Amino acid sequence: MNLENKLAKSQTAFENWKTVPFTEKQKLLQKLASLLEKDAEKFGKIITQEMNKPITQSISEVQKCALMTRYYAEAENILKPEKIKTEFRVSEIHSVPKGVILGVMPWNFPFWQALRFAVPVILAGNTVVLKHASICFGSGNMIEKLFLKAGFPKEVFQNLEIGHEDVKKVLENPIIKGVSLTGSEKSGAEVASIAGKNIKKSLLELGGSDAFIVLDDADFKKAAASGAKARLQNCGQACNAGKRFIIQKNIEKEFLPMFIKEYQKYIPGNPLKKETLIGGMARPDLADELEKQYKKALKFGAEIILPLERISKNEFIPGLIKVKAGNPILQDELFGPLGMVMIAKNDKEALKLANDIPFGLSNSVWTKDKKRQQLFIDHLESGTVSLNKESSSDPRLPFGGAKSSGYGTELSLHALKEFVNMKTIVGN
Ligand code: NAP
Repeated sequence: MNLENKLAKSQTAFENWKTVPFTEKQKLLQKLASLLEKDAEKFGKIITQEMNKPITQSISEVQKCALMTRYYAEAENILKPEKIKTEFRVSEIHSVPKGVILGVMPWNFPFWQALRFAVPVILAGNTVVLKHASICFGSGNMIEKLFLKAGFPKEVFQNLEIGHEDVKKVLENPIIKGVSLTGSEKSGAEVASIAGKNIKKSLLELGGSDAFIVLDDADFKKAAASGAKARLQNCGQACNAGKRFIIQKNIEKEFLPMFIKEYQKYIPGNPLKKETLIGGMARPDLADELEKQYKKALKFGAEIILPLERISKNEFIPGLIKVKAGNPILQDELFGPLGMVMIAKNDKEALKLANDIPFGLSNSVWTKDKKRQQLFIDHLESGTVSLNKESSSDPRLPFGGAKSSGYGTELSLHALKEFVNMKTIVGN
């Protein structure tokens, strides 16, 4: 089927799908959640084969998708008509689905990113076409099959096997009413500008270079293990990974060796083996890019704590560098197994360093003191602030970025309202 036909079918599917009651849609989501749960291992294997994620992490990704889908299957219907008291006989707000929504998704969580976007958008009454990352068409096709198997009408969810050069044409098509992109700043800016030109809503979930701040009253043992995981799970290829470790100066001698010890547990191995903690990067060109960034950081004065060692076309022994404010590498996102350590005299300086970058996705602060926590809660410029834990999204809580990390909300009940129009009904 050609692209035009696929979009036309999505539009036809929308005309019917928007009339299906919310609770009926939720029953289908329950089935989808069960299918994901039942064959999590099988789907995990697809993920690992596509982008090298260690298999245990791939299976957890699918299980998290099941949890998220079930969350929406049981969610309160916040989209039902809302009555507002005015002097008129009728005054109501109706949440009306927009129509066919395009999702442009990345490879780093091939099931999670696609479903995190699609599930609430479809529950709100829209239909979805997915342009997945070019190395993840297997995941995209499997997700389409799962929607069908769960009983969703045909074409409510369609995977388009297209390259990024076709996104413009799809987005300009009048059938498409909005776009959600998870990916890099560069593709986000391009896609949002096409959407803007065509007066279509866009939602952007972009990169990050989140701070992982460890203060002198933190639980060091927990913070060290959590920090290594925050940086190195998924081979460092997560938007909300801890990328900059801001450590209070008076604990550097005690904390840093503990952190290094945990970090060195991540030894590259076969991603299909259950004991492997870290595999290779998803593509060799991404490994080339990380090596370039490493050299750039060193050129501008970064010191090596652990060298970044390339051991194959896409594998590294993880690196750790000490970076000072002003190093231009801080403007970049390091999307791989290379962490940055920064030293701060006190809380105020830690906060300043944390905020002094273009991104603001999901920072993490380690202190037991509630007063100290409050300073960071109030002033960190990010979509999420995690306290004494590494950053991770939760279906019940909103997820989204500040600054160059994007705009709009995924997850939680709030995501249900991202692709609906508010229609006001008023009069006598
Ligand atoms: P990417 O290169 O931006 O690709 C993401 C998607 O956009 C892919 O489907 C890609 O298609 C497409 N794309 C690339 N260039 C495009 C263009 N000019 N026009 C339209 N579409 C285009 O990003 P990535 O390397 O896959 O993913 C890593 C980035 O995603 C990181 O920056 C990471 O932080 C971010 N991310 C953010 C979140 C979040 O929730 N905030 C979550 C995960 C990842 P092709 O594969 O065909 O090129």
